[in-house]
Order: sequence, then structure tokens, then C-alpha cells
Amino acid sequence: MMVWDEVVGQPDAVAELSVAAEDPSAMTHAWLFTGPPGSGRSVAARAFAAALECETGTGCGTCPGCRTSMAGTHADVHVVVPEGLSISVAEMRALVQISARRPTGARWQVVIITDADRLTEGAANALLKAVEEPPERTVFLLCAPSDHPEDVPVTIRSRCRHLGLRTPSAPAIAEVLRARDGIAPEKADWAASVCGGHVGRARRLATDEAARTRRESVLRIPLSLQRMSDVFTCADDLVKSAEADASEVSGARDEAEKDALKTAMGHGGTGKGTASATRGSAAAIKELERRQKSRATRTQRDAIDLALVDLAGFYRDVLVVSSTAPAALNHPDREADARKAANTWSPESTLRRLEAVLACREALELNVKPRIAIEAMLTTLHYG
Ligand SMILES: [Zn+2]
Repeated sequence: MMVWDEVVGQPDAVAELSVAAEDPSAMTHAWLFTGPPGSGRSVAARAFAAALECETGTGCGTCPGCRTSMAGTHADVHVVVPEGLSISVAEMRALVQISARRPTGARWQVVIITDADRLTEGAANALLKAVEEPPERTVFLLCAPSDHPEDVPVTIRSRCRHLGLRTPSAPAIAEVLRARDGIAPEKADWAASVCGGHVGRARRLATDEAARTRRESVLRIPLSLQRMSDVFTCADDLVKSAEADASEVSGARDEAEKDALKTAMGHGGTGKGTASATRGSAAAIKELERRQKSRATRTQRDAIDLALVDLAGFYRDVLVVSSTAPAALNHPDREADARKAANTWSPESTLRRLEAVLACREALELNVKPRIAIEAMLTTLHYG
């Protein structure tokens, strides 16, 4: 399997990247990968990095360069995933320093920044200097959602070669679920049809019972809002389910990180200098806890956003079935519900509901407290 097989439903991008990887003389030192959520921006960047480190330059998928790059253990491939809501200046400075080194043995020093739209101004400035005068053997791969390209500072964007990814088709997603993950054809087709073009989401829905249950309960909301008290029950459910999702993801990792840090700092020792070491480690643990909290907030927000995207998809489906437009449904498995709603609500009130969901997403992006934004949205979803 070539590394490009990981990049689902993007034949044009793969063609461009594989040509670039095989011809180092035509290398561009900074790239910007954009695409809608789930299109696989960071997967494409990682596959490109693997091809750059590949012993044959093709992204063969089997040489040590390819395998370690894809597994995230290659010494010259650095991946930055912002843990909080943004990438700090300190993180970026450290990264720029690493990027200036010569590659240890391989062909390139590759720096992947998975959410370049979350750079703080200071971090962007630190990065800009490196992108302006890139070290000879260094390549920067920045990833950002295509709906917010303006969140990557124009000074950086203008120095990058742009690579646009698109939403992969449902058949392409079903194919990869079957071929690579060994998922049964029927389940693969279903997951691909309801994932909104998001490969990772499709995989999770196909393999994780809890994720399927959460989706079900979100999609039950539109028709279950019968009275005002339902608004509060549903708001409660949505917030709690996002919290549960977030703690499922981060709980175990938080503890493991804390243990690793305590061990590294020699916690609980009795030798000389222990008192000051303990003071130092208390500060380090506090800093770690702060980062973990910020990460949890983000995971929780992402979980709520996922629910809102599913909801918006449902209201769009209601508009689709009440028109004669031949558009594909977001949730083909809920078509009966969408038809029932279309027979009950006027198109105008469906549109108001859809807008309420989108407004809620915006409010959350502006840091409005989740429960407040969600209750406001559900009130409109109830009255229409
Ligand atoms: Zn290879």
C-alpha cells in the first residue's frame, strides 16, 4: 500500500504532491493544505512528508522512511497539534529552531502544523521569519479549514503553495472503510452515506457504538421538541453528552501525562535538593493541568459542534425533501423523519430553525457559554 492510499478521494491533490515529492529541484518550502473539515488535510500532509522522506521518493509505504513518517516517529518529521485553543509563541519558537537544523539522515526536515488557523499573532510572526527565509532542506506544511482561510495571516499565506482538498465522495469513503479497516460492506456504505464527507467520522460511526447512539439522540431532537420543558431536557442532554464524549477522549490521557511528568521530575524523592525540585514540579504539574483543561474545553466544543452539524444537516434535508431539488440527503437513514417534518412545518419555519443552528455554532465560536447558546437555539427549534 502506497502512502497516497491514505489520502481518500483526492486524485488531483495526490497527483500534484507525488510529482513534487519525486522532483526535489522543484521543491516549494512552504505549503498550505486547505479543505473542508474531514477532507483529510493533515493526513495528506503526513503522506506528503512520508513521500519526502521515502527512500525511493515515491511514497512506497514500505521503506522505513515511509513507515516512521506515517506512524509519527520519524526524527525529521515534526507535527504540531495545538493542544489548547491556539499555538503559543513558545511552541512556535521551539519549532522554528528545530526546523533550522539539517535533517538527521533523511532528505528533508518537515514541519507539519495541523491547525495553522489557530496560530496566535505572536506565533504567526515567529513562523513568518522561518517561512520567509526557509533553511535549504526544510519544508513547512500548514493545514487550515477552507472555510476560514483568512484565519491564516496573509503574510504567511502569500508565501505558501496552495493545495486545495475537496470533500471525498461517499463511495470513496466506503471503499477505504472496507479495504483498509475491514468493515462489512453494508455498514461501510451506511457510515459513508451519513458522515458528511468526513472520513474519520465515518470510521468512528462504523466502529463505535457510543458514537452511533449519540448521533441517534441528536437526530431525535427535531421531532421530540413538543413542549417548552423539552427544550431544557434536550439542552441538558446535549451538553452532558458532549462532556462525556470529551472526558472519554481525554480522561485516560490526562492521567498518563501527569504520571509521566511526575516520574520525569523525580516526584517523591528524599535526596538533597528535593525541596526545590518538588516546588519546580508542582509548577510544572499546574501548567500541565492548565493545558489539559484547555484541551478538554476544545474537545467538548468540537463534540457540540459535531452535534450541531448533524442537526443543521437534518433541517437542510427537510428543505430538500419539501422541494423538488435532486440533492443528496445528509442523513438518508432519517428520510422518513425529514418527510414528516416537511409535512408539518412551513419552509420558512424550517429555514428559521436551520438558521438558529448556524447562529448557535457562531455563538459558540465567540465563546458564549454552551448551555446558554444551546437553550436559545432549542427554543427556536421548538417554536420554529
Ligand atoms: Zn518509501
